[in-house]
Amino acid sequence: MRRLALAALLLLTACSPSGCGQEPGSPQTADTNPEAEPLPGDPDPTPAEPETPPAPEPVSWPHEPGGGLYPGSGTGATDATLWAAGIRFPMEAGPAYANSQVYGYGGFAAPGPGSQCDVRNYSYPWRDNFCETRSWTNGMCPAGKGHQGQDIRPATCEKKVHWVVAAENGRITSIGSYTVTLLGDSGRIYRYLHMDMAGVNALFPNAASRNVTRGQHLGKVSADFGGNATTTHLHFEIKAPVTSGGGATVMFVPTYSSLIDSYGRMLNGAA
Ligand SMILES: [Zn+2]
Repeated sequence: MRRLALAALLLLTACSPSGCGQEPGSPQTADTNPEAEPLPGDPDPTPAEPETPPAPEPVSWPHEPGGGLYPGSGTGATDATLWAAGIRFPMEAGPAYANSQVYGYGGFAAPGPGSQCDVRNYSYPWRDNFCETRSWTNGMCPAGKGHQGQDIRPATCEKKVHWVVAAENGRITSIGSYTVTLLGDSGRIYRYLHMDMAGVNALFPNAASRNVTRGQHLGKVSADFGGNATTTHLHFEIKAPVTSGGGATVMFVPTYSSLIDSYGRMLNGAA
């Protein structure tokens, strides 16, 4: 009986309610004690390199190359100049879809049955449509004529929802029946077509209101076309001084590369 009691006492000494073994807070051996003094001749302890989180992958989106028009819709511009580096993407938010209205679903030369609001029009990849077949003069197009800007659908097919914004600081010089013209401080001219023009006129009722800053609301994407209707989209143009033969002419320039540049910045939080 006495022997059993002794064994029980030994067991109680070795084990606590939290388990058997070394008690928390019991002294460490000198080898593992972080507070231990370095021995003479020991090299200085080198602090561990702080962990640097890997840089996030830039956000990208599928887009066809500049000049790569929809097959059968014309011959694209060969000029790849970034004509308007640093502009604000002309819609306040993405996603947005640069593509063709005429050669997209619901257009006059659609690839098949479908409405303008077809989900296939509201999807990537982007596609250039500067120089798409038109009768308008365009010195940058191989044919000497063609579409003078880029068509961009907003995130959804709804009218009067998606804000259009100023590409740079400047002044609105004209508000027509479906066109807003912005003269940027850079000297470039931007034209925005097919916004909700009643809304535009409400925002800019007089000359004093027409100085704008980069990113400022200009109006909302709609389908205004001077009494006719078009699809829900923004037609965006850039005119810039182009030097040729010793003189400079302000003319329509390829738009797509500047839109890729600005959309990429916007997607990555640096609009
Ligand atoms: Zn257009």
